[in-house]
Amino acid sequence: MHTIYSVDSLITPEEVAYYAKKRGLDGVAVTDHDRLDSALRMCKEKDFLILPGMEITSSNGHIVALNVQDPVVKGLTVEETVDRIHDAGGIAIACHPGAMFKGSLGNHTTSMFDAAEVVNSSAIPFRHSVKRGEQIASRLKIARVAGSDAHYGPEIGCAYTLIDAMPDIDDVVNAIKRKQCQPFGRAIPLAVRLKREITVLRRRFGPRGET
Ligand SMILES: [Zn+2]
Repeated sequence: MHTIYSVDSLITPEEVAYYAKKRGLDGVAVTDHDRLDSALRMCKEKDFLILPGMEITSSNGHIVALNVQDPVVKGLTVEETVDRIHDAGGIAIACHPGAMFKGSLGNHTTSMFDAAEVVNSSAIPFRHSVKRGEQIASRLKIARVAGSDAHYGPEIGCAYTLIDAMPDIDDVVNAIKRKQCQPFGRAIPLAVRLKREITVLRRRFGPRGET
């Protein structure tokens, strides 16, 4: 999921744990676009499991890095990006690999990846992206995960990954590597999408202070 440190998200750090707990999640991965500082700070501050990560804009499409301590620069090829994630001790996830209009990797997803995000709640058309994600993950024999790709509080938890691990960052990441995980979830409901869009417009054009 993304926080206000990604230009396109409305979610404040305070809202992350609030909505995640409300939806019954045991933890969330914070993956802001091309920055790691926000997630690193939150994972230290919060009394809730936050996996520190970032969504990197590689030259071939978006890649999520989880459990890295140093940011990976954008604009590198898939191979270079995944190598740097592994060198930084993290895992590389092909996020929304089969989705259209989202800067997806598509056929650039290789077996170098630790996992593919098969279910991404914000992908349109949803079913098509799940189907392509499944095909990619099974062809490469890599782990399958799910993510809400939330940019608005109520979207958190629309998708989730069931992981056979203790609520601990290293344990969770190692379980994903061993494919001890399963993706679940649905598309963000249309009503929630509309509410998000209205909130964005109000903030942009509404009277000062109105949210
Ligand atoms: Zn993306």
